Amino acid sequence: MNRIRVLSEGVAAKIAAGEVIERPASVVKELVENALDAGATEVRVEVQAGGKSLVRVADNGRGMSAEDAALCFKRHSTSKISDEQDLDRISTLGFRGEALASISAVARVTLKTSDGAGGKGVMIEREGEKLVSVTEIAFPRGTTVEVRDLFFNLPARRKFLRSDRSELSFIVRTVTGIAAAFPETRFVLAHGERVLLDCPAVRTAGERIYQLFGREVASGLMEIKAAEGSHHLEGYASLPLGGRADRSLQHVFVNRRPVRDRMIMAALNQAYAGILERNRAPEAFLFFSIPFEEVDVNVHPAKSEVRFSNAQTVFRLVLQAVQAAVARGPVLKKMQPAAGGPAPAQGEGVLRAVAEPKLPWGEAAIGPGLRPEDEAGTGHGGPAFGQGFPEGAVHELQPQPAATPRVIGQYENLYIIASAPEGLLVIDQHNAHERVLYDRFVEIDRERAWPVKMLLVPEVVELSASDFAAFEEAAADLEAMGFLADQMGGRSVALKGYPDLFGPAEARDVFLSLVAEGSGRAGEERRKRLLATLACKSAVKAGEPLNMEKMSYLVEELFRTGQPALCPHGRPIVLRIEKDDLDRGLGRPAARAGR
Ligand code: ADP
Ligand code: MG
Repeated sequence: MNRIRVLSEGVAAKIAAGEVIERPASVVKELVENALDAGATEVRVEVQAGGKSLVRVADNGRGMSAEDAALCFKRHSTSKISDEQDLDRISTLGFRGEALASISAVARVTLKTSDGAGGKGVMIEREGEKLVSVTEIAFPRGTTVEVRDLFFNLPARRKFLRSDRSELSFIVRTVTGIAAAFPETRFVLAHGERVLLDCPAVRTAGERIYQLFGREVASGLMEIKAAEGSHHLEGYASLPLGGRADRSLQHVFVNRRPVRDRMIMAALNQAYAGILERNRAPEAFLFFSIPFEEVDVNVHPAKSEVRFSNAQTVFRLVLQAVQAAVARGPVLKKMQPAAGGPAPAQGEGVLRAVAEPKLPWGEAAIGPGLRPEDEAGTGHGGPAFGQGFPEGAVHELQPQPAATPRVIGQYENLYIIASAPEGLLVIDQHNAHERVLYDRFVEIDRERAWPVKMLLVPEVVELSASDFAAFEEAAADLEAMGFLADQMGGRSVALKGYPDLFGPAEARDVFLSLVAEGSGRAGEERRKRLLATLACKSAVKAGEPLNMEKMSYLVEELFRTGQPALCPHGRPIVLRIEKDDLDRGLGRPAARAGR
């Protein structure tokens, strides 16, 4: 059956033009997208020399008739859209009819394809813009495209390609990206003789992520989910206290199309503020489903950016999804038994992670440490999500037991030592108190209920030029928090009242540090920052001796907060030493406990 048409001049002119093929990875992306658009359940990618000498993509999709095969290399020939209206609701990955034209203009291309009719197929060879041969061949249903010697006729472009190794890592990232969004499709990627990736079809994105990135990454993820009207988001993202040093594991898909989007990245960062340690970036696999007519995919030559009709909704979905998942239960930082080896070198991590999980799916998924009772009650996840996700990851999500840990004592006037069913807890007293106060302050602030103490004699504070500017900026917020201060001319202000949390002697210091902290930030962020600083200033200090009663009260309050794991500045509060690790370290296997 013939499907391909050449778009009219008018439609073609409306297509975001630009460089489609930049490097071997772009060839891989376009060919794999074509295979998926053709309904393939298996896609094999073979490359040589980082894709510079060969990219071969073979699929078992619906293939092309001989007539379509003759047409597909023509610019703006496509089977996926026909008129202008179609541009407004694109459901396929491709739609411009440009990829094969662009590729064949800059390489030696061989296409073999068959739509299965009569067991026959066709082979077309092209070199640059030239047609070299058309041959009838015996070929099963499907399509194989070979692209050799990319940019052979554009030496200047060829010179700009990077080393085989780094071109290969672009390819790996491209394939793993797309493969994450199509778990029901088998993907194989080989570099020369070496199979880098072979992931059979699975049911869920979670299983696919496990196949692609291995147990370690998968077990650090939590399932996330949110919906607003016809906009849906599902996916996986770092557990609190997780994340990694770089942003290499952030993949965003809109209707299964891999995209890059600054706004979504900003939302992700905001969602993770305060639940990841400083200098950590969240891992994220975000799958958005949005009505086709509300996403414009025709804005970028490589189709890797999109425009949303409801960008705000998309932003909110990210925040809501992460917040809801975090609210399911706090996770306490586990003490690492021993420092691990050096982190893998930049760029190598991807390849190694990819080469590693070639274990048969199933067995490896159920890692040690899975407690059978944890399988029940996770109770979330739609049809394609949740079920089948490696349980190792899910067990981390279990809310900590409701029982408050029992305080054993204080260590070095810094740490509270407590006992809990899951192990020994070492709690930073200052950070813990800071978290407790911060949550309380947020509450007070929301209700505008700061208790204010008035000074009999106002305290005159002389500010530096920069502090004075900061004060003017934050004055309204400070006043709302109970710091009543009047400008007195010059750079002095008279502090007349302060929140009734500390003595008059401290009020001045706290006021000064708030002024300095609030500068250069806007709106909500400034407010949170001020509250965090206020909590920090009024919390018990490191080095302060505490009696049992105070410690018990503090720990009880801590575990009542939404986030006992991290202080508002992103420092960990609680370290958990598992009983298993103690048993192991002291040569008392858990199985023989009691002997
Ligand atoms: P687009 O994907 O934007 O339509 P391409 O230049 O990538 O443009 O492909 C042109 C046309 O060739 C497609 O619309 C499709 O009909 C056909 N085609 C390309 N690759 C395949 C494939 N692997 N299987 C079946 N048809 C294909
Ligand atoms: Mg295409």
